[in-house]
Amino acid sequence: MKTFSEILQNKEFTRDELVLLLNAEGDERQQLFQRAKSVKLEIVGNKVYFRGLIEFSNICSKDCLYCGIRKSNEKVLRYEATDEEILDACRFAWINRFGSVVLQSGEISSPTFVKRMISILRKIKEISNGELGITLSCGEQTLETYRQWRESGAHRYLLRIESSNPELYRKIHPENDFHSFDRRLQALKDLKTAGYQVGTGVMIGMPFQSIEDLADDLLFLKRMDVDMVGMGPYLEHEDTPLYKFRSLLKTKLERFDLALKMIATLRLLMPDINIAAATALQAIDPAGREKALTIGANILMPNLTPCKYRKEYQLYEDKPCLDEDAELCRNCLEARIELAGCEIGYGEWGNSKHFHKR
Ligand code: SAH
Ligand code: SF4
Repeated sequence: MKTFSEILQNKEFTRDELVLLLNAEGDERQQLFQRAKSVKLEIVGNKVYFRGLIEFSNICSKDCLYCGIRKSNEKVLRYEATDEEILDACRFAWINRFGSVVLQSGEISSPTFVKRMISILRKIKEISNGELGITLSCGEQTLETYRQWRESGAHRYLLRIESSNPELYRKIHPENDFHSFDRRLQALKDLKTAGYQVGTGVMIGMPFQSIEDLADDLLFLKRMDVDMVGMGPYLEHEDTPLYKFRSLLKTKLERFDLALKMIATLRLLMPDINIAAATALQAIDPAGREKALTIGANILMPNLTPCKYRKEYQLYEDKPCLDEDAELCRNCLEARIELAGCEIGYGEWGNSKHFHKR
């Protein structure tokens, strides 16, 4: 049988080996982080790429049992940022040489929404000389919609599978076709067909989730051959149905630590992809995202959502930076990224090396 340090040198990993890595404690945990750091530096370098995050609408037609902005949460004031507000945030990103923006929202599929996105995408390209990279994260849509948005200027798409275990997926979503695992999986495949760089990911430390589930999630990401991954700790939200299972949860610090181990292990499994330091890490530890950068992540998503909307986009509790404006966020970010020993890839798209090889 291989020793822990021999396993760390692997290029391929079995499920049992992944479980072992995710369970690492003490010295072995440090070895895992060290190895992930050196693989990252060797394969993708020490640059961090910015994706300015614009949470432009919290209107959602779905009812995911974990999410604070789910349709049935009547405590949330629903908003939709105007075109001008979205474009202002994009201008900020472009002027400050963030390579890209991420437009994220609840899931709406109406023809009006689809058309509005087409027009916004074109305007973003216009105001930035075609220079700003655009990632969308607007949930499940038809292949036709994905194609139209792709043709209008979006080139990356984030759609987390949340859990690759269909049984667990069912437990954290309402039981109907609108929230089906197969539909989500199909959407991921459609995104590839439509020519996007595809990003997916999972929530870590959910009720009913085992370490083996997480090892399977990692193997799923590998099998799907994705270009980008964003995954972070699950954080309970009081106004959601899943809250009643909070006694089953690991502590927040344990979830945080598990998320770091997931990121480090994923870097060993898929050395050339882009891995985001999820905002949810920062909700547990103020320096959480920077910690993720030192052990494998290479993408950061500074929040550019207009301040007045932020408190209504609480997917989970304790979401950070609720009252900071974009400029403040940028300054504090730069300092912290330097502390993490990384360099910022200003003005670069920072596509994943994996995508170019594919
Ligand atoms: N509506 C889109 C995008 C917005 S939600 C979609 O669902 O794809 C973006 C991500 O937030 C989700 O994919 C989910 O992984 C994460 N999220 C939602 N609720 C969360 C919670 N309670 N804790 C941690 N992450 C959460
Ligand atoms: Fe809507 Fe996305 Fe939240 Fe689900 S996770 S309720 S689709 S915003």
